[in-house]
Amino acid sequence: MAPGHSIPIIDLAILFAGKGVKSTIIAPPPDAAHISKVIEKPRNSGYEVDVLDIEFPVVEAGLPEGCESLDKLPSPDMLVKFFLATKLLKRPLEDLIRQHRPHCLVSDMFFPWTNDVAAASGIPRILFHGTCAFSFSAMEHVRLYEPYKNVSSDSEPFLIPKFPGDIKLTRSQLPDFVTQETWFIKLFNEFIESGSKSFGVIVNSFYELEPVYADHYTNFLGRKAWHVGPVSLSTKGITDKTNRGKQSSIDENECLNWLKLKEPNSVIYVCFGSMADFDSCQLIEIAKALEASGQSFVWVVRNEKEKLLPEGFERKMEGKGLIIRGWAPQVLILENEAIGGFVTHCGWNSVLEAVSAGVPVITWPVAAEQFYNEKLLTEILKIGVGVGARKWKRLVGDFVRSEAIEKAVREVTAGECALEMRNRAKRLAEMAKKAVENGGSSDSHLDALIGELKSLSPFNQVSN
Ligand code: UDP
Repeated sequence: MAPGHSIPIIDLAILFAGKGVKSTIIAPPPDAAHISKVIEKPRNSGYEVDVLDIEFPVVEAGLPEGCESLDKLPSPDMLVKFFLATKLLKRPLEDLIRQHRPHCLVSDMFFPWTNDVAAASGIPRILFHGTCAFSFSAMEHVRLYEPYKNVSSDSEPFLIPKFPGDIKLTRSQLPDFVTQETWFIKLFNEFIESGSKSFGVIVNSFYELEPVYADHYTNFLGRKAWHVGPVSLSTKGITDKTNRGKQSSIDENECLNWLKLKEPNSVIYVCFGSMADFDSCQLIEIAKALEASGQSFVWVVRNEKEKLLPEGFERKMEGKGLIIRGWAPQVLILENEAIGGFVTHCGWNSVLEAVSAGVPVITWPVAAEQFYNEKLLTEILKIGVGVGARKWKRLVGDFVRSEAIEKAVREVTAGECALEMRNRAKRLAEMAKKAVENGGSSDSHLDALIGELKSLSPFNQVSN
């Protein structure tokens, strides 16, 4: 119930259906309406994929009307209420399962109670946590070994213990619920525990991207995992890419025609996903940095921030910068050959979409596991440069000066290692495409998962 989780889940359902497995997506009515449009095309090509409404009683839960998704909450103070309210979905989900009798339930990590729902119906629950093996395992190591307790300040780096790759972080880059007793810690532990009790985990990543960590995930954490991504590569066709997640705020032709006038690898794309936020001072710094970098850019500014852009900036940048207010067709933009760099908050979907498109990144992590994702990009994959964000924040990103942003943009576009980074990114994109092709690693993992599910007795009884 947040775009960063629902978008890949929808892709996943379509992937299952492409393998001849009937899949049904369960979502609250506003999302269900959008999903039914998304699945129209696969359905017309014979895929058995469907969507069912599940009523989310937002008002009963004390949330404002229309807040069926995390990105619609008017204030971060409501997060706790939202997370607790999702438990109200248990009863309606049980009813749907009784009625439709699926053979398997795939559910997001934020719904730990679905383990019990699946167990009561005698079917396996498969967890989807929405990140990669590297970041999930690194987080687990930090949670289990608590290395942040052995440093004397928030800015002193510590090594993640017993974790491949000598990865260092600071306490200030860790989520507050790891280092402090906050309301979220109890919920977070529930998410983790339920994950370890599930049948296995679907990972939206591909084996070749992080082989050491994919193996580590299975061997060290002892989790059964299927790496089936990048799931975004299942979205084909310009219109489908344009409205991926939500209806795009810009006409696809306007966007593509603008990009067509630009040289290959010359445009910087700036977008911080569906949740992260910046105040007006920060937007001014970003504007200054983009102008000073001399690069053309596409900048996605969420609607309500429109008035906070520097006076006259858009007019001054006409032809040089395209500002998209609201929802951008991100996958379509990233895949365009004009894009030469992506300023990203390192949300896992954005990371993987950049990798799939072969675009190097300028990293600016904000929340969730994004500081871990940054490490993967800059230190393991070496396809990015950080702006120097130092502090984990729940939604509003750490303040970064324009000079630091500009420097990172220059390093990625024209620095000493720019070409190497770009070549590495392009190679990864090739690997990603191969992984999802017939017989590729992700395609084979999906086959293996379906095979394993079929071998479970209830699945066999019903399908025979
Ligand atoms: N996205 C998009 N247009 C936008 C903003 C986001 O298409 O204007 C998509 C993006 O392609 C990605 C998802 O929304 O698939 C955001 O997920 P991510 O994990 O990157 O970040 P989150 O929003 O969860 O912080």
